[in-house]
Amino acid sequence: MIRSCAHRQNETVPVRKDGADTIVDLKELGEFGLIDVLKSDTINNPASVVVGIGDDAAVVLPTPRHLQLLTTDMMVESVHFDLQTTSAWQLGYKAIAVNLSDIAAMGGMPRHAVISIALPAALPVDFVVSLYQGMKEICHEFGVNIVGGDTVSSPHGLVINVAILGEVEPSRLQRRAGAKVGDVVAVTGPLGASACGLELLQRGEWEALDFAWPLVTSHLTPQPQVQLGQWLAGMMATSMDDISDGLASEVNEIAKASEVGLHINAEQIPLLPALKEASGWLGKTALEYALYGGEDYQLLFTIPREQFGLLKADPRGSQLTVIGEVVHRSQGVKLRDAAGGLQPLAPQGYNHFR
Ligand code: ADP
Ligand code: MG
Repeated sequence: MIRSCAHRQNETVPVRKDGADTIVDLKELGEFGLIDVLKSDTINNPASVVVGIGDDAAVVLPTPRHLQLLTTDMMVESVHFDLQTTSAWQLGYKAIAVNLSDIAAMGGMPRHAVISIALPAALPVDFVVSLYQGMKEICHEFGVNIVGGDTVSSPHGLVINVAILGEVEPSRLQRRAGAKVGDVVAVTGPLGASACGLELLQRGEWEALDFAWPLVTSHLTPQPQVQLGQWLAGMMATSMDDISDGLASEVNEIAKASEVGLHINAEQIPLLPALKEASGWLGKTALEYALYGGEDYQLLFTIPREQFGLLKADPRGSQLTVIGEVVHRSQGVKLRDAAGGLQPLAPQGYNHFR
């Protein structure tokens, strides 16, 4: 049902030893048999790996004088994804992408991943192989090594936990804290597409809608802004955060950490033409998706205004867009509408347990 993305087809799916062409199931293959199947093509930067998959712990070589970044994100079936609306390959790709985005937001280089999976026994082996093909594709794109993990059975539903180790030069480390009054607030790309794509996926029968493809794609296979994150970190951004929970939530995170206010101009928020079309069709506004939708995985950052001019003069900066300014804390976190009116901008993105 889902249009599959181009990917490398170099994985071998195990077949029965008796020559029948049915694929063995997880029960037959077992934990160790499965790990053996998955461990090929996991090292993209061999110089930094001393021991990869196959020992009690991975051993890696840190780059001298770099700080280590560690991040983890878990994806649980029925909470973060629905197997009716994603392929295994896309799910694997996204599970890594969301972690790379956190490394990008710190200004870092992702280096190594460990991947823990809890699998229902009935899951076909080729599903798991395809899941790993998606993960290996994006790890290959970003030079990340898969150096270990854990494989267990799950009584209900699939769980994927990825942890990534990254590195950053101390002078390039970016935090949510650091925004200064007078800085501009900017983003690395269009917002709202992912949440709208999710809604289209959940409604079903979206394939015939021309505007749906870019939205659905940005939901299923988001692109982490790793190169831009490093560049911005080297160009003296003052604070940075990735947009996983919606713009409204992330601007409040930066405001809180930096002890400043932020004023966002609704009209400056970049929106895909497809989002404008789709939101009209769905009876909503594109702005709602951009502010509260989440899972865009663009970067939100602050930087002195003159410095932003330098970014825009560079071809790498073409997608960067100013959306507001940093103000004194007492002026609050607000949204300026088209008529110039300022409304409080409350953090109401997705929140587990609420
Ligand atoms: P241990 O019992 O010592 O923790 P395991 O038998 O669980 O080791 O794992 C064997 C090796 O396979 C280890 O290197 C581990 O990191 C790796 N591994 C296990 N599961 C996965 C997985 N899902 N993805 C990648 N590597 C894995
Ligand atoms: Mg183990």
